Amino acid sequence: MTRKVIILGSGCAGSTAAIYSARANMEPLVLEGIEPGGQLSLTSNIENFPGFPDGIPGLELVENMKKQALRFGAEYRMENVEEVDLSSSPFSIRTGQETYLAHSLIIASGASAQLIGLESEKALLGRGVSTCATCDGFFYKGLEVVVVGGGDTAMEDAIYLTRFCEKVTVVHRRDELRASPIMGDRAKSNPKITFIWDSVVTEVLDPAKNAVEAVRIRNVKSNEETVYKTDGVFIAIGHKPNTGIFKGQLDQTPNGYLRVHDGYHTNVEGVFAAGDVHDEKYRQAITAAGSGCGASLECERYLESKGLI
Ligand code: NAP
Repeated sequence: MTRKVIILGSGCAGSTAAIYSARANMEPLVLEGIEPGGQLSLTSNIENFPGFPDGIPGLELVENMKKQALRFGAEYRMENVEEVDLSSSPFSIRTGQETYLAHSLIIASGASAQLIGLESEKALLGRGVSTCATCDGFFYKGLEVVVVGGGDTAMEDAIYLTRFCEKVTVVHRRDELRASPIMGDRAKSNPKITFIWDSVVTEVLDPAKNAVEAVRIRNVKSNEETVYKTDGVFIAIGHKPNTGIFKGQLDQTPNGYLRVHDGYHTNVEGVFAAGDVHDEKYRQAITAAGSGCGASLECERYLESKGLI
């Protein structure tokens, strides 16, 4: 059986694409991936998604989207795609369980925030450790936070957080920023931002209390360790789009994001991209949802033009 459309990913972009394509009789199959619900499922409360004046937990928002797609007949399977062959249509998609054929594909496999890799960081993710300043900054009104990283995202996050926080401390592993000079200068001249150079966070305290109270920091030059009090930790050491399996088949930017043209078309006819997998710039739930809608509409036109729906 060849499917009309397979959607890779079940975050905001994937489920919005599923709602639209199910309502257009495209009978979508959604392969949920290893992080069902995407990055939103890791975010405590979403306050900037229009339509929820009191906010909504991230997990609830993506679960609602899935329910909505199911109502119109979308099919979801908890499978992770390991290999695709896009060299000819129908495309072949192999998961750990099965190999599927599809006339079209909407890739909404998202991007994953890079983490430092500490047990304590993982334990407190969503409970004082965040990878999204835009999503969670508001909860730190009048408090002190640490931002880890030295790139443009870290500078942008640090500057953004000064809107709410009393003090923002950037912890960077070198004595020189990776960020563009303009962003670096802006952060350095902000009186609420201080820098701890040549240092890495080795532990977030205290998982036993289920709250962030401090970070343990090691100076990489002197090896000296200090405990630095903080109310929250924002990890801003980069995102990695989940595009590894498309290498060599779909055009990507130098950072590995899928390249799109004319809306949401990739360089392979019949293959579309939506959400963070192609969006290096905004990376918001609402922009991901919008692009899921756009990709589905483009896909519908494509299937129609081929007489497949
Ligand atoms: P990035 O440029 O790759 O910077 C990541 C930063 O995190 C670097 O300073 C890096 O340190 C540090 N880092 C990486 N792994 C680490 C680890 N395990 N522990 C501690 N520190 C670690 O990523 P980004 O800042 O997310 O930016 C990604 C791209 O988007 C860039 O091209 C950037 O210019 C662009 N961007 C632009 C804007 C803007 O123009 N407004 C805003 C956001 C992002 P090192 O420096 O030592 O490698």
